Amino acid sequence: MGKYRSNTCGELRLSDAGKVVTLSGWVQKRRDLGGMTFIDLRDRNGITQIAFNLETNATLCEQARKLGREFVLQVTGLVKERESKNLVIATGEIEIEAQTLEILNEAKTPPFTIEENTDGGDDLRMKFRYLDLRRTSVRNNLVLRHQMAKETRSFLDSQDFTEVETPVLIKSTPEGARDFVVPSRMNPGQFYALPQSPQTFKQLLMVAGLDRYYQIVKCFRDEDLRADRQPEFTQIDCEMSFVEQEDVLNMFEGLVKHLFKTVKNFDMQTIPRMTYADAMKFYGSDKPDTRFDLRFVELNESTNNLISGKGFKVFDEAELVVGICAPNCASYTRKQLDELTDFVKRPQIGATGLVYARVNEDGTVKSSVDKFYDEASLQAWANAFGAKPNDLLLILAGPKDKTRKALNELRLEIGSRLGLRDKNQFSCLWVLDFPLLEFNEEENRYFAMHHPFTSPKPEDIHLLETGDLGSVRANAYDMVINGVEVGGGSVRIFNKQLQGRMFEVLGFTEEQAQSQFGFLMNAFEYGAPPHAGIAFGFDRLCSLFGGADSIRDFIAFPKNNSGRDVMIDGPSEIEEKQLKELHISVRTES
Ligand code: ASP
Repeated sequence: MGKYRSNTCGELRLSDAGKVVTLSGWVQKRRDLGGMTFIDLRDRNGITQIAFNLETNATLCEQARKLGREFVLQVTGLVKERESKNLVIATGEIEIEAQTLEILNEAKTPPFTIEENTDGGDDLRMKFRYLDLRRTSVRNNLVLRHQMAKETRSFLDSQDFTEVETPVLIKSTPEGARDFVVPSRMNPGQFYALPQSPQTFKQLLMVAGLDRYYQIVKCFRDEDLRADRQPEFTQIDCEMSFVEQEDVLNMFEGLVKHLFKTVKNFDMQTIPRMTYADAMKFYGSDKPDTRFDLRFVELNESTNNLISGKGFKVFDEAELVVGICAPNCASYTRKQLDELTDFVKRPQIGATGLVYARVNEDGTVKSSVDKFYDEASLQAWANAFGAKPNDLLLILAGPKDKTRKALNELRLEIGSRLGLRDKNQFSCLWVLDFPLLEFNEEENRYFAMHHPFTSPKPEDIHLLETGDLGSVRANAYDMVINGVEVGGGSVRIFNKQLQGRMFEVLGFTEEQAQSQFGFLMNAFEYGAPPHAGIAFGFDRLCSLFGGADSIRDFIAFPKNNSGRDVMIDGPSEIEEKQLKELHISVRTES
């Protein structure tokens, strides 16, 4: 295999006994025991034990006794069957009896242990990311990411997609998230923006006749960060021509199934579909976690009102009274119920209280609002929920949207408490028919819920002229896995007039629309094909496949919560000379 090694540290087995081999790697651990010294030598492939015998080779053994953790070694020796085998590791039946040892490089003692259960805190591991990446689990995340990218390319290639690179230095547009900008030296006072997504370029590629495009591409959004957000992230970005929504859903259901099969050896069944309206009504979220059911049941529907007129003001005055049925939770103690009440009353969740009703073993129902509701009423509730003996009904009341949101949080909390959110179980869902527009109270205008190029449903287009803009539905879809939005896309507008109308609805003047998106509208005058697409959040998809919550572990060199790379210490100030060249006025120290 070359000068430095004949084998990796992960591949030798008992059947190799008797061979003379050369291995290279890092010192994981050294143990000095009387007449022997053992080194665990590690590379990306595994760990192999190297044995040094004081009696038979004193000089070499003395040398080995000076080796520190993470020294880089090249060792040649004889593969031998081990006396005490370690069956936990693949190479655990053999060891190498060292004949020569070369120190390829010394190493300072690392600031944390390079082991599965490391003693390093988050900040330290981020600062020394290259050392953290030596840990098998962290490195394996990158290997998983590689596999996912490889299988994505292989699938899309088999479906005739062409990978095309689009530019990174583009133009700032006010719609969407905040842009990262780059000053242009050659164009004083002007700035490029880094793409939030290649959206307009992929649409132009459809006008150009590429037919099926994809790109595994970096995107940039200057937003506040959370565990599942990074300022630069990667998308699997796709677009297809001469397709309708159904074609896109089928194609990318195919991609997701292919990834589950090839990467996780998991046969994903047909992915169910739900409208946005149903997702909100039954789960209080546009990304319901469908690993478990616990669907919402409304108790004050106009056709079946089970709560009004009994004197309980909280329910009588509420826009919505809605609950879930927690199976086998009737035995929850007072303390557990208080915990749940405190949970929903937290300011982030904002419910004012929690009403509960226990379905007893004998089928009778006992509730926290017995004062107002007789047994017959409570039985009617239990029926509405399809509750069984030992179930617990948890009910919230208040304004519709807020209450649904709060119950969504409670549903997820109960799901977690009941162990229904297993990371090794996967449940995919298409959410369809999103609203086209979303009203922003602060700015007193509508924004595109997806982006301004998303097409309204043909049957709702007339509402853009005459009706309630908030009720126009879009041909837009999201893919949700385990309650995480992993992808989203839409059928695009490909008609200049409709696109113009959309910009108008979004409050653009004709001049603004022309100056910002003229290139796209002009292109639409040269024969744009019907087209549609989708983009998947690649980092998120990888973290889901890896069974982790944070996307950071699946990015080789991530940023921290303040958007900093603490390893290279960026962003940083730049020299005055650079600033001048970029025509940026120089700060004066006060
Ligand atoms: N460009 C969109 C996004 O980044 C996805 C799409 O519509 O294809 O969300």
